[in-house]
Amino acid sequence: MHHAVTERDPDSESEAPRSPEGDDKKKERVIHTRVPAVLEQELKRLAENIRVPVSNLVRAILEDAVSMADRAGRGVEEELHKAATNLSSKREAILAKKEKVVAQKALEGVIGFQPLVLASEAICAKCLTPLHPGDEAHLGITADASAPRVVVCEPCVPKRASRDAAKTSPETPEK
Ligand SMILES: [Zn+2]
Repeated sequence: MHHAVTERDPDSESEAPRSPEGDDKKKERVIHTRVPAVLEQELKRLAENIRVPVSNLVRAILEDAVSMADRAGRGVEEELHKAATNLSSKREAILAKKEKVVAQKALEGVIGFQPLVLASEAICAKCLTPLHPGDEAHLGITADASAPRVVVCEPCVPKRASRDAAKTSPETPEK
């Protein structure tokens, strides 16, 4: 009984070539693809002109394209890859620059820094380090109350250079 129902789904197999048993060619598969009507017409016309079946023409074109890609070989592939990574790293560099400019802008008008312990996530406006709740940070105080609030991390708070240089620098004012 079983052998009668094991026939394959006719829908999926209808276009597949029934490969003859003694076929020693490479296994052939059917690729289904949709093409625009215009392309189909072009292919048909071309196939008629050179008197080959459309499917043969399509296969010839595909084989040609693949072997061309093969011939172009790794060199091209690497170049393309390099170009792509270059592009993205350049983009990153540009973005980083842009962020720095934005950060500098953010610190414009800040007249002082007030230490605080963060209660929420923040980003240092100067070095863009992510800061987390509980981190010690400094709030930038601006004269303009409408200015957006900025927070900087501890290392980014400006410090007097003279404190470190006091011993070596004789110009420290004595008063
Ligand atoms: Zn910082």
